[in-house]
Amino acid sequence: STTAPPELTVRDVTVRFAGLTALDGVSFTVAPGSVHALIGPNGAGKSTCFNVLSGLCRPDAGAVTLGGTELTRLAPHRIAALGVARTFQNIVTTQGTVADNLMLGRHALTRAGFTASALRLPGARREQREHLARAREIAELTGLGNHFDAPVGLLSYGDRKRVELARALCLEPRVLLLDEPVAGMNAAERARTAEVVAQLRAELGLSVVLVEHDMGLVMRLADEVTVLDFGRPIAHGTPDEVRRDPEVLRAYLGA
Ligand code: ADP
Ligand code: MG
Repeated sequence: STTAPPELTVRDVTVRFAGLTALDGVSFTVAPGSVHALIGPNGAGKSTCFNVLSGLCRPDAGAVTLGGTELTRLAPHRIAALGVARTFQNIVTTQGTVADNLMLGRHALTRAGFTASALRLPGARREQREHLARAREIAELTGLGNHFDAPVGLLSYGDRKRVELARALCLEPRVLLLDEPVAGMNAAERARTAEVVAQLRAELGLSVVLVEHDMGLVMRLADEVTVLDFGRPIAHGTPDEVRRDPEVLRAYLGA
């Protein structure tokens, strides 16, 4: 539905572990400012795909590009610096305040000039103030504004899980990879997180790759869906197309 060149291109990516092909020729593209959902049963290879996209796993074949830039063999911090940020499936922060965690996220952006700015204290203080102001904006954007100075250990599960999302946003990414962002959340927390993701796309123009088991959320948020089963892409299309695809029904229902 868009003619703009893709923001993210995944081409023929294959990942083999001993005796297991976790990804088998996976290709998809993510249009700028769109939400692309990656779905499939447990073990389908979704998290492995995120590991490839973020540089934690080197594919045996295939390529990943961001805009025109090849990411495939870059180290994770280089990929992050180029604008791909991610959250992890099973990590929920428990230490420090929300502000502490978001400032940790900002730290990756300050690294280059860190020593230099440490020698010029007024400049460093200004930079710190700017990062704190942006961290506060990101907290507002992710529904954590009222908890900015609260210890994350005291927050609800849903808020703590959203701290991960906020920390990823602190990298000012072009592409955000969300690995099961609402897993374990109650209905209200899911709805809140869905609003936040929709807003990130609308206000920041972010491209999002969404791995999620909650089909309601996928149907509501995704522009396009790619379905994996045992590492193979078995369907691709709009949420409505994919929902009616017989292959998809077979993979999910074992029919
Ligand atoms: P999903 O996120 O879709 O549930 P994963 O990407 O986590 O699936 O896993 C895909 C398959 O690859 C699974 O069979 C899993 O056990 C296997 N796998 C994932 N990571 C590794 C690894 N580092 N070493 C060996 N096997 C792995
Ligand atoms: Mg997973």
